[in-house]
Amino acid sequence: MKQFKTESKKVMDLMINSIYTNKEIFLRELISNASDAIDKLYYESLKNGNTGLSRNDFSIHISTDKENRTLTISDNGIGMNDADLEKNLGTIAKSGSQDFKNNAKDLNDIDIIGQFGVGFYSAFMVVDKVEVISKPFGSDKAYKWVSSGVEGFEITETEKNSFGTDVILHLKKDTDDENYSKYLEEYEIRSLVKKYSDYVRYPITIDVEKTEKTDDGKEVKKVELETLNSMLPLWKRNKSELKEEDYNHLYSDLFYDSEKPFDYLHLNLEGAVNYKAILFIPNRIPYNYYSKEYEKGLKLYTNGVLITEKCSELLPDYFNFVKGVVDADLQLNISRETLQHSRQITVIANSIENKIKDELLKIQKNDREKYVEFFKNFGTQIKYGIYQVWGMNKEKLQDLLVFESVKTEKYITLKEYSETKLNDQKEIYYVNAKNIQSAKNIPQVKQAVEKGEDVLILSEDIDEFVVKVMREYNGLQLKSVFDSDFSLNDYKTNDDENKIIEKVKGVLKDEIENVVLTNDLNDISASILTVGEISLEMEKVINSNPINQKVKAKKVLQINVNSNEYKALKSSFENEAEEKFNNISKLLMYEAFIVADIKIEKPDEFVKLISQNF
Ligand code: ADP
Repeated sequence: MKQFKTESKKVMDLMINSIYTNKEIFLRELISNASDAIDKLYYESLKNGNTGLSRNDFSIHISTDKENRTLTISDNGIGMNDADLEKNLGTIAKSGSQDFKNNAKDLNDIDIIGQFGVGFYSAFMVVDKVEVISKPFGSDKAYKWVSSGVEGFEITETEKNSFGTDVILHLKKDTDDENYSKYLEEYEIRSLVKKYSDYVRYPITIDVEKTEKTDDGKEVKKVELETLNSMLPLWKRNKSELKEEDYNHLYSDLFYDSEKPFDYLHLNLEGAVNYKAILFIPNRIPYNYYSKEYEKGLKLYTNGVLITEKCSELLPDYFNFVKGVVDADLQLNISRETLQHSRQITVIANSIENKIKDELLKIQKNDREKYVEFFKNFGTQIKYGIYQVWGMNKEKLQDLLVFESVKTEKYITLKEYSETKLNDQKEIYYVNAKNIQSAKNIPQVKQAVEKGEDVLILSEDIDEFVVKVMREYNGLQLKSVFDSDFSLNDYKTNDDENKIIEKVKGVLKDEIENVVLTNDLNDISASILTVGEISLEMEKVINSNPINQKVKAKKVLQINVNSNEYKALKSSFENEAEEKFNNISKLLMYEAFIVADIKIEKPDEFVKLISQNF
């Protein structure tokens, strides 16, 4: 018996006491070894031209023997002689395929996956014993390599009809936790091939037993060879050959969404890392989008072999709604499972991010209605992207925002606002309102519109937080119409009025920071403005969450000097009707609260005040 090299023993030990939770990947590994072996022979035949083999001659065959509990993966690739078997399977691969790949640069028709170290040994997760029977192409001798684990392996000469390699897996007995017999079932094999190896470039075949009826009604059993994999993935095909339906099919196949995608993007990039990708934006918010179970990520393939179902590193959180597939020429060192912090992944992720952004901007520009539809679904996510990490991604994302505008009643971008604003306007105005109608009823908005200024509507809870971290857009301050310095109040107060103001302030000191007079409020008696960082909207949003510490916006009561209430206030001041003065002050404040949609803490007091004044 020959000994494994120390390193190999370690890896095998890890495999036997499996570190992988998904043992099923062994099949993927063996299939990709088979595919590599075929690549090598195919390369030889291209180079020498005298093998008599063409691309169509190659395949990988899977067969099972339930009685003996064996699963066999056969290929007609390059094969191995005794020395190759000893070197390749006795030592952890440093890897033969890697050397080969370096030599094969001149032929771009083939590329070889093989840098993945543990590949072959992953079989030991599911077997008691492995036999590898191999015959190199062009040789008349065949060899058998057998091993039952870390103790070692044996190589003997044997018979084999055709060139290539059979890997015969003697599956372990089932345990309470693990069902190994399932790997003998056609159904399981089909689904594993579909899942991991669908895009391997050679046919992966199995024998399928079919029952057919003869002309005289008898049933006969027939064995047919069936190819399980579709081989050439859509993303490797030319865009010009593909129709929208093809992409729609791929989308529903891969992501089980019965609806067509909202949009798709087919990328084929060459640069620091080469990759191809097809990305989709779903038409609707996925049902579990806002739950913990939702995971962002793209399917990652390397040369047709699935590496991970959801590579989350490929997408930033703010584009977490994007689904898709990436197929990249990756150089992975230790194993397929440890690519997390790979530099290549970062390069691809950045490139993907830019492409998604460009695509969204394109839709925004060419089809605003469609963009708004998208934004209603996933705009909140982009807003979170701006809000998070102290606005670090502001520059990247701000042009993706759209807000409804009071003036145009359409969704516009900040850029469009800044390009159409009045010349002397130094700020971008916004208002918190549920919709256009309620925005238009707000006195400050009316004022602005009368002056010809536009106001953007912030209708989502998060909006206010977003504009607060943004502060400005291309040098224009973002300003709430409720901000006390929004409308420069040019009403000049006289001495009596100043006294009235001071007295109202005294009455309302618990709620109100300051009081001002105006003659600019049309038919509204009073309104609320704010000073400082916390706006009315933020107060509402923050306080609505029971776990938050309560905050209070600093409120300014703006009183319309033309209102009946103010006239009554003035006369009670002149007549020293103390109680009446207090009541009217409070009434004005409550009225202003109602206009600003602020919850009144003591509704009974408010109701009493009204009835007392009739
Ligand atoms: P890797 O595939 O990453 O190189 P493996 O441990 O899976 O590592 O395989 C080790 C080596 O054994 C391969 O590099 C290859 O040279 C050889 N090998 C494995 N499977 C086959 C096969 N089916 N046909 C020919 N050679 C093979």
